Parts: sequence; structure tokens; C-alpha cells
Amino acid sequence: MPDDKPAPPVPSPRQTLSYLHRLFESYGLEAKSKLGQNFLIDLNLVDLVVRAAELDRSDAVLEVGTGTGSLTAKLAEIAGAVVTVEIDRSLGPVAKEVVGERPNVTFVFGDCLAKKNELNPDMLTAWDDAAKRANCARRKLVANLPYVIATPLISNLLIAGTDIERMVVMVQWEIAERMRAVPNTKDYNALSVLVQSVADVEVVRKVAPTNFHPRPKVDSAIVMIKPNAEKRAKVGDVTKFRVFLRDLYVHRRKNLRQALIGWPTGAREKKDVDAKLAELGLDGTLRSESLDLEQHLRLAAAFG
Ligand code: SAM
Repeated sequence: MPDDKPAPPVPSPRQTLSYLHRLFESYGLEAKSKLGQNFLIDLNLVDLVVRAAELDRSDAVLEVGTGTGSLTAKLAEIAGAVVTVEIDRSLGPVAKEVVGERPNVTFVFGDCLAKKNELNPDMLTAWDDAAKRANCARRKLVANLPYVIATPLISNLLIAGTDIERMVVMVQWEIAERMRAVPNTKDYNALSVLVQSVADVEVVRKVAPTNFHPRPKVDSAIVMIKPNAEKRAKVGDVTKFRVFLRDLYVHRRKNLRQALIGWPTGAREKKDVDAKLAELGLDGTLRSESLDLEQHLRLAAAFG
């Protein structure tokens, strides 16, 4: 810490606005908006996230975005193990001070994603190791997520099927709307279909920008996502299904028939597409966004 800075406030997981200001000033830090550094300042909301996670000592929690460690400290009080990942190393000293000596917390400094769109294997290994060490039977993701990585992180964790009991995450409101959207609405897309095909989604609370410092430009939401084994079994190969959905939704405005014929990774014969659509009893003039989950699964089985 630079000499000319004021002394840091007494470390506390109780992250009020004035506490955050003093913390940042004393460590000579500034929030980096490009890293999605919007810190939660409403204590009731931190408590709500923790309550929704229903934690006990049999839980190994993954937190993405340690920030100043306020949520980390709360999680560590209740969970068996916490693995917390932070890309910004300059927050390390603050977070470690706030969390204090807690043997059940593992800090990982790095990107939660590898190659932009995959899960960081070091993060997964640290989570595995921590769960084994603490004899934790369950896994949970509990995090105030940096918004730019929310979709790839959640999708990849769902696809990996790493035995996650639930995810309780703060995300951008728009992403929450997509994850729970129903057919024939503007928010319904590949993400809605993927998430709802393998999990149950619920919005716990809509959260206004005033609850963060600095304030984001958009609303947020605390979302609960519970992977559902029965649904997953119906999907079969989830990785393949995700690729199918990605290709199906490349051209959102095209109807089903046009989308299937002009497939981005290889065009199909018109007559084959028409024959299969007829077999499935699907009207080719519809758009994908009007199909329900079950129809998407049948379509993927026939064309995937
Ligand atoms: N948990 C803290 C809180 O609730 O106040 C901070 C949450 S803040 C919304 C998100 C945090 O994620 C930031 O500290 C940011 O630096 C970090 N972050 C951004 N991108 C990341 C990435 N790709 N991998 C890991 N951490 C990331």
C-alpha cells in the first residue's frame, strides 16, 4: 500500500458505500468498468444471495469475481469450502485482508474462462480439490458475476454437468430475461432453450443499479438455476445440442425451413429438409423462436 494513502478501514465483509470508498482510497484502487467491477453495497442483497444458496458445510462453493472479498467472507462462514476466482490481481491484498485467515477459502487469480469461451481448467481443479479436502458432497456457484462472462460461464458449467446442485448468481437483467423467456417472445433464443432444457430457472429478485458501486447502466437480477437430471437425460449429448442451437439461431429472422437449408456449417438438400420436417409434423414456415423445448429436442435429434 502506498505510504501517502490513508489507513484502510477495519476489514469487514459489511460493504457499505463509505466503507468501499475508504477501502479503495487506502489501497489506491479504482473500479475497472471493463472488468465489470460493480461492487454490491446493499447488505440485504448479499444476505439474500447467501440465503438463496442454502449453504451448509457440505457445500463446496465456486465464486467468480472475488472483488473485495465481501461475499467471499460470508460464504466462507457457512460453506465447507469456497474457491474464489478473480482476474484482477490488484484486488488480491484487499480481498485477503477482508476474508482473513480462513482455511476453507482458496483464492485463484486468473480468468474464469480459458480461450474466451471455455472453463479455466485450473479453476475446476481447485474446486475439485477443495471439495475433496473438505469432504463436500455438493457443489454450488454463488457469485455477483461480471456481466460480460455470465453467459459463457453459466452455459459451460451447465454443459460440463459438474454435479452442480444450484447456481445463485447476480446477472444483467437482460440475461435473466433470456434465461427464463418463453416461446414467441423477443427474449427467447438459444440461451433460453439451452438453459431450460437442462435446468430450472427462477428470478429471485430484480436489483436496481443503486445497489452497486459504481452504478451499472442497467438493471440486474439474482437468479437461481437448478440443474435438472431428468431434463438433461432427455437432451442426451448437451454439447452437441448447444452447437445445434447456436447454428439454428444464427439467422433469427429466417424461418425454420430456410434456416435448416442454409445451415452455417453445411447447406442441406431442400427435399431432405422438407421430408424430415413433415415427418416431425413441424411447419417449416415457423421461426425457431416459436418452438417449445420439446420441439427443439426433436428437431436436434433429426437434424443435429
Ligand atoms: N464479489 C464482489 C461483489 O459482490 O462486490 C465483486 C463482484 S464484481 C460484479 C465482478 C468481479 O469479477 C470483479 O472484481 C472483476 O474484476 C472480476 N472479473 C471480471 N472478469 C473476470 C473473469 N473473466 N474471471 C474472473 N474474475 C473476473
